[in-house]
Amino acid sequence: MVDYTEHFLEDGDVIEMNLMGTAKVKKYLAGGGQGQVYLVDYNGRDMALKWYGPGGMGVNPQKFYDNIEHNVEKGAPSGEFLWPKDISKWRNGTFGYVMELIPPEYKEVSEYMLKKATFSSFLPAVGACLRIANAFRILHDKGYSYQDINMGNFAIDPKRGRVLICDCDNVAPVDTVTGVIGTPRFMAPEVVTGKTMPNSLTDRFSMAVLFFMLLFRTHPLEGKRYLSARGMTAELEMLSYGTDPLFVMDPDDSSNGPDRNLTPNIYCFWDPIPGYVREIFLQAFSQKGLKMPNARPSENAWMQALARFRSDIVQCSCGNDIFLKDIKNCICDGCGKKIPIPYVLSLDSYPIPGVPGRVIYRCQFGTGNPETAIEPIATVLSNTEDPTQVGIINREEKIWNVITPSNKVVKIQKEGVVPMKAGLQIDTSAGTIRMEDNTAS
Ligand SMILES: [Zn+2]
Repeated sequence: MVDYTEHFLEDGDVIEMNLMGTAKVKKYLAGGGQGQVYLVDYNGRDMALKWYGPGGMGVNPQKFYDNIEHNVEKGAPSGEFLWPKDISKWRNGTFGYVMELIPPEYKEVSEYMLKKATFSSFLPAVGACLRIANAFRILHDKGYSYQDINMGNFAIDPKRGRVLICDCDNVAPVDTVTGVIGTPRFMAPEVVTGKTMPNSLTDRFSMAVLFFMLLFRTHPLEGKRYLSARGMTAELEMLSYGTDPLFVMDPDDSSNGPDRNLTPNIYCFWDPIPGYVREIFLQAFSQKGLKMPNARPSENAWMQALARFRSDIVQCSCGNDIFLKDIKNCICDGCGKKIPIPYVLSLDSYPIPGVPGRVIYRCQFGTGNPETAIEPIATVLSNTEDPTQVGIINREEKIWNVITPSNKVVKIQKEGVVPMKAGLQIDTSAGTIRMEDNTAS
């Protein structure tokens, strides 16, 4: 990695592009290890241009160029990827590519870790993890691996949990060696020890680390054993992330357990999170998951846990997020108030609280096509004029059949509302939602 002191391009430079026209440099934006990013006018649109410095193109610059050119042709796997849109022609032994600009409301994961950015609640944080899992499911299904998941490569909108996955220039078809091995603390143990190069199973490890950090603001392998060491040595690094990794919450070995002062969030949130979320982290960071890449939870398994987790987060009027344990008796652990949940929505596999803020995704009815898995089927909202009136909105193109307790069928169009009423059954394109009374003991 080199940090460049000079700007490679001047304002006003006109770069010839491969697919279409030119990119005219407007302003230098940022620098990094591989190159620099500029604001450009790409055929009349403001976009970002990443321009490589000497040594920024790996050991084989032509191969690096060909891979990006191929990715431009194939197009983005999903809307989350800030994908190369066009590549420049070679210029003085180097080149660049254009991509969309990151909107200013999006913040890097590293900013969340440093508390320079905060999520408005757990809902967008979990929603962001869900989108990331889905994006990687699609990417891996298409035969690519990302190879360098780390805190700097994800920009997330703190209110809505929308995600942009940056630095897609290292994305390559599985079994292509790009020369990239990843970023310390995020590389899978078998990459750290040099046994393998990054692939889709090492991506799964790095993704689980990212999720753990987003939800607990601490690293899953940095417990007492790591924190009590005086200064980081190469040996300790190899031990902690490579040869002998140990999860901070390992149920059988507490020698790398959490530290109450240095990693307080894990104390606050590990026990309250739903059991099925603890389970998937335990699977990802068990000795088996750490040492046997095939034993790691799949992207789809993550999506199932995360979509359900998002449904199980209820917000109290005091501002606290509650992770639902008992749907009959939801008590805020912040202010002690009981949160009313008058209706439950029963999906085929589990019930969720029928309170505002719920989004029911297609994947909550079972594994489906990854392209539509996180499409919202329905959302629960309260009436803006009378917040006690709560209803379910049809978010899909399909007209719903709503069956009343007396077996009448009512048709509900897209954006139409079904008011909460016990005994109603909604037939969506993905499955059935049943509204049930939750007040009877
Ligand atoms: Zn409260």
